[in-house]
Amino acid sequence: GERFRVVLIGGSGVGKSAISIMFLQGTFISEYDPTLEETYRKTITINGKCCLLDILDTAGQERYHTLESHYVRNGDGFIIVYSITSKATFSNVSKLYDLVLRVKDSDSFPTVIVGNKNDLEEERDVTIEEGTELSNELGCPFYETSAKENHNINESFTALVINLRKK
Ligand code: GDP
Ligand code: MG
Repeated sequence: GERFRVVLIGGSGVGKSAISIMFLQGTFISEYDPTLEETYRKTITINGKCCLLDILDTAGQERYHTLESHYVRNGDGFIIVYSITSKATFSNVSKLYDLVLRVKDSDSFPTVIVGNKNDLEEERDVTIEEGTELSNELGCPFYETSAKENHNINESFTALVINLRKK
Protein backbone atom coordinates (compact mmCIF):
# COMPACT_ATOMS: atom_id res chain seq x y z
CA GLY A 1 0.00 0.00 0.00
CA GLU A 2 0.80 3.66 -0.03
CA ARG A 3 3.30 4.86 2.55
CA PHE A 4 4.87 8.28 3.06
CA ARG A 5 7.48 9.63 5.43
CA VAL A 6 6.39 13.06 6.65
CA VAL A 7 8.85 15.30 8.48
CA LEU A 8 7.85 18.32 10.58
CA ILE A 9 10.51 21.00 10.66
CA GLY A 10 10.61 24.54 12.02
CA GLY A 11 11.95 26.61 14.88
CA SER A 12 11.90 25.49 18.47
CA GLY A 13 8.59 26.14 20.24
CA VAL A 14 6.44 26.68 17.13
CA GLY A 15 4.24 23.71 17.99
CA LYS A 16 5.56 20.78 15.95
CA SER A 17 4.99 18.34 18.79
CA ALA A 18 1.57 19.79 19.65
CA ILE A 19 0.53 19.50 15.99
CA SER A 20 1.82 15.91 15.76
CA ILE A 21 0.04 14.82 18.92
CA MET A 22 -3.20 16.55 17.99
CA PHE A 23 -3.13 14.85 14.60
CA LEU A 24 -2.26 11.48 16.14
CA GLN A 25 -4.38 11.45 19.29
CA GLY A 26 -6.80 14.36 19.08
CA THR A 27 -5.47 15.86 22.32
CA PHE A 28 -3.58 19.06 23.06
CA ILE A 29 -0.39 18.65 25.07
CA SER A 30 0.57 22.00 26.57
CA GLU A 31 3.95 20.87 27.90
CA TYR A 32 6.04 18.61 25.74
CA ASP A 33 9.79 18.08 26.17
CA PRO A 34 11.31 20.36 23.50
CA THR A 35 14.33 18.07 23.08
CA LEU A 36 12.25 14.95 22.47
CA GLU A 37 12.17 13.64 18.96
CA GLU A 38 9.57 11.06 18.08
CA THR A 39 8.31 9.02 15.18
CA TYR A 40 4.61 8.31 14.94
CA ARG A 41 2.59 6.18 12.60
CA LYS A 42 -0.94 6.83 11.46
CA THR A 43 -3.18 5.39 8.79
CA ILE A 44 -5.60 7.80 7.18
CA THR A 45 -8.07 7.58 4.33
CA ILE A 46 -8.01 10.43 1.84
CA ASN A 47 -10.30 10.47 -1.19
CA GLY A 48 -11.29 6.89 -0.40
CA LYS A 49 -7.73 5.63 -0.46
CA CYS A 50 -5.84 4.38 2.56
CA CYS A 51 -2.40 5.74 3.30
CA LEU A 52 0.21 5.01 5.97
CA LEU A 53 2.10 8.01 7.32
CA ASP A 54 5.37 7.76 9.23
CA ILE A 55 5.58 11.12 10.96
CA LEU A 56 8.87 12.44 12.29
CA ASP A 57 8.51 15.22 14.87
CA THR A 58 11.99 16.77 14.86
CA ALA A 59 13.54 18.63 17.79
CA GLY A 60 16.43 21.00 18.36
CA GLN A 61 17.48 21.10 14.74
CA GLU A 62 18.89 24.61 14.84
CA ARG A 63 21.70 23.31 17.05
CA TYR A 64 22.44 20.30 14.85
CA HIS A 65 22.79 21.43 11.29
CA THR A 66 24.16 18.16 10.00
CA LEU A 67 21.20 16.26 11.41
CA GLU A 68 18.88 18.73 9.71
CA SER A 69 19.93 17.61 6.25
CA HIS A 70 19.72 14.00 7.44
CA TYR A 71 16.02 14.48 8.32
CA VAL A 72 15.45 16.08 4.98
CA ARG A 73 17.17 13.32 3.04
CA ASN A 74 14.79 10.72 4.47
CA GLY A 75 11.54 12.64 4.07
CA ASP A 76 9.01 12.13 1.29
CA GLY A 77 7.17 15.29 2.25
CA PHE A 78 7.52 18.15 4.71
CA ILE A 79 5.46 20.34 6.95
CA ILE A 80 7.36 23.54 7.66
CA VAL A 81 5.94 25.14 10.79
CA TYR A 82 6.29 28.68 12.10
CA SER A 83 4.38 30.47 14.83
CA ILE A 84 2.19 33.45 13.89
CA THR A 85 3.43 35.00 17.16
CA SER A 86 7.08 35.01 16.05
CA LYS A 87 8.55 36.81 13.04
CA ALA A 88 11.87 35.03 13.64
CA THR A 89 10.29 31.62 13.10
CA PHE A 90 8.56 32.93 9.96
CA SER A 91 11.90 34.18 8.58
CA ASN A 92 13.20 30.65 8.96
CA VAL A 93 10.61 29.15 6.58
CA SER A 94 12.24 30.01 3.26
CA LYS A 95 15.64 28.91 4.59
CA LEU A 96 14.19 25.55 5.50
CA TYR A 97 12.46 25.13 2.16
CA ASP A 98 15.74 26.07 0.43
CA LEU A 99 17.42 23.33 2.41
CA VAL A 100 14.76 20.84 1.27
CA LEU A 101 15.26 21.81 -2.37
CA ARG A 102 19.03 21.68 -2.04
CA VAL A 103 19.09 18.26 -0.38
CA LYS A 104 16.50 16.88 -2.82
CA ASP A 105 18.28 18.56 -5.73
CA SER A 106 14.96 19.75 -7.11
CA ASP A 107 13.14 23.01 -7.80
CA SER A 108 9.98 21.91 -5.99
CA PHE A 109 9.15 19.25 -3.40
CA PRO A 110 5.92 18.25 -1.58
CA THR A 111 5.79 20.69 1.33
CA VAL A 112 3.01 22.40 3.25
CA ILE A 113 3.64 25.62 5.14
CA VAL A 114 1.86 26.01 8.46
CA GLY A 115 1.48 29.16 10.56
CA ASN A 116 0.56 27.72 13.93
CA LYS A 117 -0.95 29.24 17.12
CA ASN A 118 -3.61 31.24 15.28
CA ASP A 119 -5.71 31.14 18.44
CA LEU A 120 -3.25 33.73 19.86
CA GLU A 121 -4.61 36.65 17.83
CA GLU A 122 -3.55 39.23 20.42
CA GLU A 123 0.08 38.08 20.14
CA ARG A 124 0.10 37.95 16.34
CA ASP A 125 3.40 39.06 14.77
CA VAL A 126 2.93 37.63 11.24
CA THR A 127 -0.15 38.52 9.18
CA ILE A 128 -2.10 35.94 7.22
CA GLU A 129 -1.21 37.93 4.08
CA GLU A 130 2.52 37.52 4.77
CA GLY A 131 2.03 33.78 5.19
CA THR A 132 -0.05 33.54 2.01
CA GLU A 133 2.38 35.62 -0.02
CA LEU A 134 5.45 33.64 1.00
CA SER A 135 3.71 30.32 0.38
CA ASN A 136 2.57 31.46 -3.08
CA GLU A 137 6.14 32.50 -3.85
CA LEU A 138 7.44 29.10 -2.78
CA GLY A 139 4.55 27.29 -4.50
CA CYS A 140 3.41 25.48 -1.37
CA PRO A 141 -0.06 25.06 0.16
CA PHE A 142 -0.54 27.22 3.25
CA TYR A 143 -2.64 26.91 6.38
CA GLU A 144 -2.87 28.86 9.56
CA THR A 145 -3.47 26.30 12.28
CA SER A 146 -4.11 25.98 15.97
CA ALA A 147 -2.95 22.79 17.62
CA LYS A 148 -4.68 24.04 20.74
CA GLU A 149 -8.08 24.32 19.05
CA ASN A 150 -7.54 21.54 16.49
CA HIS A 151 -7.95 24.02 13.67
CA ASN A 152 -6.69 23.01 10.19
CA ILE A 153 -4.47 20.22 11.55
CA ASN A 154 -6.06 17.39 9.55
CA GLU A 155 -6.35 19.73 6.55
CA SER A 156 -2.59 20.35 6.57
CA PHE A 157 -1.71 16.65 6.54
CA THR A 158 -4.39 15.97 3.91
CA ALA A 159 -2.99 18.70 1.63
CA LEU A 160 0.45 17.17 1.95
CA VAL A 161 -0.78 13.68 1.03
CA ILE A 162 -2.62 15.08 -2.00
CA ASN A 163 0.66 16.70 -3.10
CA LEU A 164 2.62 13.50 -2.45
CA ARG A 165 0.22 11.57 -4.67
CA LYS A 166 0.76 14.03 -7.53
CA LYS A 167 4.50 13.61 -7.38
P1 GDP B 1 7.95 22.39 19.23
O1 GDP B 1 9.23 22.79 19.91
O2 GDP B 1 7.87 22.96 17.85
O3 GDP B 1 7.70 20.92 19.25
O4 GDP B 1 6.76 23.10 20.05
P2 GDP B 1 5.73 22.44 21.11
O5 GDP B 1 4.75 21.58 20.42
O6 GDP B 1 6.50 21.83 22.22
O7 GDP B 1 4.98 23.75 21.61
C1 GDP B 1 5.68 24.81 22.25
C2 GDP B 1 4.70 25.56 23.16
O8 GDP B 1 3.70 26.19 22.38
C3 GDP B 1 3.99 24.66 24.16
O9 GDP B 1 3.85 25.36 25.38
C4 GDP B 1 2.64 24.44 23.51
O10 GDP B 1 1.64 24.22 24.47
C5 GDP B 1 2.41 25.75 22.78
N1 GDP B 1 1.57 25.58 21.60
C6 GDP B 1 1.76 24.70 20.57
N2 GDP B 1 0.80 24.84 19.64
C7 GDP B 1 -0.01 25.83 20.09
C8 GDP B 1 -1.20 26.45 19.56
O11 GDP B 1 -1.71 26.15 18.48
N3 GDP B 1 -1.75 27.45 20.32
C9 GDP B 1 -1.22 27.85 21.51
N4 GDP B 1 -1.85 28.82 22.18
N5 GDP B 1 -0.12 27.28 22.03
C10 GDP B 1 0.48 26.30 21.33
MG1 MG C 1 8.84 19.37 19.95
